Amino acid sequence: MAPTAQYDTVIVGGGPAGLTAALALTRYRHRTLVVESPAPPRNAASRGVHGMIGLEGATPVEVRARAWAELDGYGLAERREATVEDLARADDGGFRAVMSDGTVAWSRTVLLATGVTDVLPEGVAGFAECWGRSVIHCPFCAGWENAERTWGLIADDPDYAALAADAFRAWSADVIALAPPGMDRAAEIRARLRGAGSDLVEGEITRLHHHDGDLYAVEFADGTRLARQTLLWSPPQRQVPLVARLAENLALALDEDGFVSVGPDKRTSVPGLYAAGDLTTAWEQGAMSAAGAGAAAADALHFARRA
Ligand SMILES: Cc1cc2nc3c(=O)[nH]c(=O)nc-3n(C[C@H](O)[C@H](O)[C@H](O)COP(=O)(O)OP(=O)(O)OC[C@H]3O[C@@H](n4cnc5c(N)ncnc54)[C@H](O)[C@@H]3O)c2cc1C
Repeated sequence: MAPTAQYDTVIVGGGPAGLTAALALTRYRHRTLVVESPAPPRNAASRGVHGMIGLEGATPVEVRARAWAELDGYGLAERREATVEDLARADDGGFRAVMSDGTVAWSRTVLLATGVTDVLPEGVAGFAECWGRSVIHCPFCAGWENAERTWGLIADDPDYAALAADAFRAWSADVIALAPPGMDRAAEIRARLRGAGSDLVEGEITRLHHHDGDLYAVEFADGTRLARQTLLWSPPQRQVPLVARLAENLALALDEDGFVSVGPDKRTSVPGLYAAGDLTTAWEQGAMSAAGAGAAAADALHFARRA
């Protein structure tokens, strides 16, 4: 299959990391291709992105549309709505990106900005309606919008459950931990939480009762209900299929938690392959952090081209 076009850098993923890198690389006069999957982005359920200075409260769609309007103004970065299905080393040391629309692009370097996938719970009725509104994954993103409500902290780890005592006081004075049946050290943590005016409730959650995504009660497998207005629920995450494939085919190194290992300049273990944004970190996820990482990657890509 002949490459359809050649670029300095192919950027895989058009979220905050990928688009910030695209803007910086455009201004460095690199020829870039941004390949963005047609699937809804990770934060599609968000009603407004918060903590993004200059764009506070804009929807994810607005943020991306605005970024593309800015990029299009330069007329240098190309956009393709497709999924990069594979990435292979070309004979000349560059990369061949194989896309879901059947095209292939060649580039000297590649930036992975594919984000992560939240593994949302199956079998909890009402979860999808509440996700991003009254079921939130991160208090920094949506705590303000859920302030002064009764909170439940979804926890399957005793040390995390213990945080219900005081870690979220900035937003709610009524936070209790909700744990699966039989969690380790449950009695000890319950006693500690009760001493601090909180509690631990164990049970398998089967249904969220809500009005148009606004939670009012949690229902457990035994039919009991607990009044709660907000759940802090951080589901497990996994890498997108492309990253798993690269770990196998190009020996892309992942850390012990499955995030792509990068140095400060966002180089991965594969020469010429960079990574920025959520796929590289469990703890520094967020739109601004991803954008900052994208900018750092662009700087490194620029200096690598000059070398
Ligand atoms: C419900 C919700 C609300 C949130 N609210 C906030 C908030 O208010 N403030 C905040 O700072 N953060 C918020 N976040 C987190 C924030 O969305 C992420 O941290 C941020 O989007 C990460 O940016 P990124 O560029 O690394 O990845 P993403 O934004 O996830 O972008 C990656 C893109 O890559 C695409 N992609 C993946 N694989 C491929 C492939 N093989 N080929 C082509 N494209 C591919 C994906 O479709 C995706 O669009 C929220 C997250 C969620 C889930």
